[in-house]
Amino acid sequence: MNTLSNMIKVAVVGGEGIGPEVTDQSHRILKWFSARRGIPVALREAQYGLIPYLATGKVLPDDTAEAMEEADAILWGATGGPETKEVPPAARKVGSLLSLRSKYDLYANLRPIVANPALADSASLKASVLKDVDFIIIRELTSGIYFGEPRGIETLPDGQRRGFNTQQYTTSQIRRVARTAFELARTRKGRVCSVDKANVLETSVLWREEVTALHQAEFSDIELTHLYVDNAAMQIVRAPSQFDVMVTCNIFGDILSDCAAMASGSLGMLPSVSLGPPDRLGRRKALYEPVHGSAPDIAGKGIANPLGSILSVAMMLRLTLNRPDDATLLEKAVDTALAGGARTADIAEPGAKRLSTQE
Ligand code: ATP
Ligand code: MG
Repeated sequence: MNTLSNMIKVAVVGGEGIGPEVTDQSHRILKWFSARRGIPVALREAQYGLIPYLATGKVLPDDTAEAMEEADAILWGATGGPETKEVPPAARKVGSLLSLRSKYDLYANLRPIVANPALADSASLKASVLKDVDFIIIRELTSGIYFGEPRGIETLPDGQRRGFNTQQYTTSQIRRVARTAFELARTRKGRVCSVDKANVLETSVLWREEVTALHQAEFSDIELTHLYVDNAAMQIVRAPSQFDVMVTCNIFGDILSDCAAMASGSLGMLPSVSLGPPDRLGRRKALYEPVHGSAPDIAGKGIANPLGSILSVAMMLRLTLNRPDDATLLEKAVDTALAGGARTADIAEPGAKRLSTQE
């Protein structure tokens, strides 16, 4: 018998825009794995965004905050779109996704970039789907230039205005995200590429030194390479199949992961997870979400591609629920569906049958 205390707790928060539509599908799949594969997971659904704001005055109502607080993992949909305008900015800020990432210290953002072979020959996709692409970008998420102080816009004596930000990293901030990369590489092809701009930036000089030191001390079984970010961008476009695990700072990761996303065809297919620090037992709080946003242009139509959210569940099976075989089973199911021609509108050829989100 599973009691609640030995169950893994997952909060399911669909949010806004297409978030609830796609999360409904991944939620169904989680329930299937729980019931049919005996995974001891306690699912708790909670609301986020405009709807709870209208009812309670909070985008993150207390019930949702509690569900997320006690959860080992959160399955998140999306937030944003026109709904943001109906909530005053101050009320938006309390419990925003950005503030939650900071609160739970979700410093390692993992985005797998996998090009599905079934889409490789698609003529209609605006992106170029490439064969043999299978790597993960790890972006540091809670530091760097996004959070560095001082920052601001000031007026100079000559009347000009000057904007400034501070790129900053400490040794521990670099080492913990690099550790995530090395540990992940051990479960994959054993290669880490660290991306920086050490020819120009002090933070990058420190980044390279610390990544190298950690590698020598604890991960010499892993192959470590370094690339400058400009070269990394070029290599992602030129020959993405060379990469296994790429690790980089917040801003470089933001740009490179969107660039790499195009190798897999549609924004709607990409999963992600943001991981917090490990506890004494090595468990890490994790927020799983599709890479796409609220997609207001298609929200409510039932046509959104749910695969980004569904593949986020595969990541959850592997990283939080410790069920690599079930993760592979789900990924194979997605491959089989795509190979059999299942297509939502975003990846369908002209004139071909388009499945609904639920189908
Ligand atoms: P947000 O501000 O919430 O990020 P956005 O306007 O940037 O919203 P995105 O969600 O980032 O919208 O989507 C960008 C484009 O990709 C939109 O045209 C959207 O319809 C499309 N898109 C995003 N996700 C999906 C999906 N799951 N299925 C199909 N199309 C999608
Ligand atoms: Mg967007």
